Amino acid sequence: MGPPTPLGLRAAPHNVTNLAQTPLAERLRSLVDTVQHNERTLRRFQSVELRLIGAQDFASFLDTLFGQLPREFSLAGVTLWLDDRAPMLRELLEPVALRALDQPRLRTSREGGLAAQGLCEDGRPWLGTPRELDDTVRRAFFGDAEQVPASAILLPLASGDTVGGYLWLGSDDAARFAQGMATDILERFASIVTASLDNVAHRERLKQLGMTDSLTGLANRRYFDERLREEVMRAVRYRMPVACLFIDIDSFKRINDTYGHQTGDRALAAVAACVRQQVRLGDTVARYGGEEFAALLQGDRADALTVAERVRLAVERLALQDDHGERIALTVSIGVAARMVSGTPTEAAMLGGAIIEEADRAMYQAKRNGRNRIEALVNASGDHTAG
Ligand code: GH3
Ligand code: MG
Ligand code: MG
Repeated sequence: MGPPTPLGLRAAPHNVTNLAQTPLAERLRSLVDTVQHNERTLRRFQSVELRLIGAQDFASFLDTLFGQLPREFSLAGVTLWLDDRAPMLRELLEPVALRALDQPRLRTSREGGLAAQGLCEDGRPWLGTPRELDDTVRRAFFGDAEQVPASAILLPLASGDTVGGYLWLGSDDAARFAQGMATDILERFASIVTASLDNVAHRERLKQLGMTDSLTGLANRRYFDERLREEVMRAVRYRMPVACLFIDIDSFKRINDTYGHQTGDRALAAVAACVRQQVRLGDTVARYGGEEFAALLQGDRADALTVAERVRLAVERLALQDDHGERIALTVSIGVAARMVSGTPTEAAMLGGAIIEEADRAMYQAKRNGRNRIEALVNASGDHTAG
């Protein structure tokens, strides 16, 4: 049997005294029990992870971490320490913002950071009994004596080789977190927390800069054009392709005319969320115009076509209803443009403009060819140079 896991996952039982004499049916039943228990645990874990990844703002990210996570896994408490000097976190953690959040389990004190760093010296999680830690360390994280959990794990939140924070998971059960336990699943969880935190910090910054569209929560066109320019420069430098989708809702005027403008707005927001769900966390999706969206993707033309088809299908399958519970059918037409690019950084802005324009033209071709389809211009896939 492998080391025990602090998550509540069970190892397959084989400590039955005499395996050969245990009836097969009984052994199978116990094995099935274990598998089902583990499946349920992992599914609950996944639901927390999805909530974190999808968090639209810092407050709901923290609510999931401090509320749903301890509830689902019977933890005594969760404490998060974040480095308020980390570039992306700086604005999130300004004293005024922190006071507004009013989350006592969110810590930023310098002592806390140093203490956590000391415990996770090799970048590995620390597990054990916080009551045995020295006073200053304990107080930096848990405050009063009665809040100190019986056992806990401390997980570094690292992207690359920089640690931007630490996450404590505490339990009332002194045996729950102990040295020598398998921590791979919790380390994976920590990397998802890190990526989600990045994402949420990004979103908050967009809001502050006035680069978000308030109806859909997506980035706006100004932000998209800026990102596209950056991405073209990166693509030139690293000899990678740039890929874009231009997405336009089909016959949207009719949706407004049939169901009213308010339901139209709801449909727009639903399509936006649907597109967002079909691309990767690091991809950029923006509301480019009224009922038009643009996506900037990682990958080449083939990848972009795959994502486009996924988006098309997902929108077609959207279960949106009008005020009377009647299903509203929606489809989109998508233009795809993907290229290898070369040129100087100053030409990047122009090149970016040319790529999105190509995707837009391909989208119009999809409209002409019947809507609810994807097109890429045939003679536009070569290597392009600015000028
Ligand atoms: P197609 O693209 O398939 O050619 O037809 P369409 O009807 O979608 O084309 P068109 O671009 O002519 O119309 C877009 C409509 O989208 C017109 C406009 O009223 C509607 N629209 C744009 N922005 C919003 C919005 O914020 N809310 C709502 N409810 N409607 C919007
Ligand atoms: Mg349009
Ligand atoms: Mg349209």
